[in-house]
Amino acid sequence: MTAGQFASLKEKLAFQIDRQGPISLSAYMHACLNDPQFGYYTTRPAIGETADFITAPETSQMFGELIGGWCVAAWQQLGCPDPFCLAEPGPGRGTLMADLLRAASRAEGFIEAARLVLIEASPLMRGRQKAALEPWEDRLGGLEWTDRVSALPAMPLIAVANEFLDALPLRQYIKAEAGWREAGIGLGEDGRLIRVTLPSLADPAILPEGADGEPEGAVFEHAPAREAVIEEIAARLLEYRGAALFIDYGHAVSGFGDTFQAMRGHAYADPLAGPGTQDLTSHVDFERLAAAARRAGLPHAALASQGDFLLELGLLERAGALGHGKDAAMQETLRRQVERLAGPDQMGTLFKVLRLTNPRLELPGYGQAAA
Ligand code: SAH
Repeated sequence: MTAGQFASLKEKLAFQIDRQGPISLSAYMHACLNDPQFGYYTTRPAIGETADFITAPETSQMFGELIGGWCVAAWQQLGCPDPFCLAEPGPGRGTLMADLLRAASRAEGFIEAARLVLIEASPLMRGRQKAALEPWEDRLGGLEWTDRVSALPAMPLIAVANEFLDALPLRQYIKAEAGWREAGIGLGEDGRLIRVTLPSLADPAILPEGADGEPEGAVFEHAPAREAVIEEIAARLLEYRGAALFIDYGHAVSGFGDTFQAMRGHAYADPLAGPGTQDLTSHVDFERLAAAARRAGLPHAALASQGDFLLELGLLERAGALGHGKDAAMQETLRRQVERLAGPDQMGTLFKVLRLTNPRLELPGYGQAAA
């Protein structure tokens, strides 16, 4: 059978599992999101008010604008390198970068010095990004795409990524009698996809402290693909200098628990239902990411909540400026956007901002102590 003969990803995966046995959760997630024929990001306009989930840049232009100001501060502290690489892994609809460039264009020379490189796997998404960023193409001297962080040009780097890491596949391990065994996806009697436990055991080196004391059935998540991205960016910052922000939802301290989830129409859904038709993600383990940066030789990793970060960057002041002289409806919209981006019960606390820099730079967003 060839790829063209499957009517859906479900059929394709069922065929594969039937022939070769269960697959890891990581292989399942990768297929669901990135399969060249049926993957979610390959085939669907996923992000936005009317789609499956809404992200911070799609919530408000203020998000990208404030990050644009941060990028300018980083560039200036690096001594205004020209050229430098401005990179965004997983740019979605290109909204964050468009808002960032508009704000940063007020700093003389920034746009002209920037070599913009977008790291995007999906041809569909690349098309959207091109449409959003075309107005900047001439001043930037072009738009470039790559599908790997390791293909970024050899020069000072300023990188920003929002909700990129959570889209990279994770592995799960389940505590069983014999130890921590890898979780996978198999086929049930009725031909449905089901969760199974694979024979492979977790490498003890990846297990956090306290793993031995966890009860049977406990879940531990590990995402080597995310750590590899951080290691690669950290290595580049060390070699060429620069600064990077990784914004995502997750925990500051490694722990146990199942956070693998599907989003469909702005609601949680069964991750095994309709493979390729819904977004799959999991929480990001920021403790492990900071450790990955240190492994690569970069000591300057700092973590802030999205709320604290944006407030320190001037979210309230920006909302005030945008609302100045506007009607009550506009004021209310801005108030809601601020609440959504920074409110502790909304994106403010669950979302976190990991900052990597080399050398150590004095940049806003982390309070006095961490600066
Ligand atoms: N940053 C955007 C989009 C987040 S969705 C926003 O905040 O709105 C995740 C993005 O990462 C999408 O653009 C998706 O196509 C891209 N992506 C997913 N897996 C990827 C991979 N393995 N390599 C490169 N890009 C990927």
